[in-house]
Amino acid sequence: MRLGGCNLSCRWCDTPYTWDWTGMGNSGVAYDPRQELRPMAWTDVLRTLLDFEVPLIVVSGGEPLSQQRRLLPLLRELRAAGRKVEIETNGTVVPRDDLVALGVRFNVSPKLSHSGDPESRRIVPAALRAFAAVPDTAFKFVCRNKSDLDEVASLVDRYGTRPVWIMPEGQVPTEVGRHLSALGDDVVARGWNLTTRLHVAVWGDRRGV
Ligand code: SF4
Repeated sequence: MRLGGCNLSCRWCDTPYTWDWTGMGNSGVAYDPRQELRPMAWTDVLRTLLDFEVPLIVVSGGEPLSQQRRLLPLLRELRAAGRKVEIETNGTVVPRDDLVALGVRFNVSPKLSHSGDPESRRIVPAALRAFAAVPDTAFKFVCRNKSDLDEVASLVDRYGTRPVWIMPEGQVPTEVGRHLSALGDDVVARGWNLTTRLHVAVWGDRRGV
């Protein structure tokens, strides 16, 4: 489930259609929220998601935790129906206690300086520490080179953002492959986890429906 709106504006964002209404992102396209967003009652969203009959629902964005209070009834029902829920977040919003209590899993992706967002907006110490305290949280960092890995190490030292997953930046397979090769040896040497971008390998930058 992809939600609209984001409190950051990363220059390499691969989902600018969820938040870039002015064309400030790399694509230079000003997306029309009337075309991109579809308001729905949460009960209709619940019915739609349950109809998929899948064991895991991933909530992404944009930044889904900007709407965390309004997400609660939906996520409560999904959990009651036996679904696992994973929330992808940029780690700038402190998760509510009642959200954590639902047993959702957080996949936190703090943004580094190459995102172009000022540090004061992209790094929120209280939020990172709160996520690090939730069992089963994973931290995923989008990187291009070794100096990005040093920046990750500094965040891990300061805020305990473990376990670390490193994902290469890129919106087409050649770009992802180049960054993956540049990062691989160092990630292994640091004892972190390395992942690729499976959706880019399969579909490139083609948008889903
Ligand atoms: S936090 Fe995520 S959705 Fe928001 S601008 Fe950055 S990459 Fe895009």
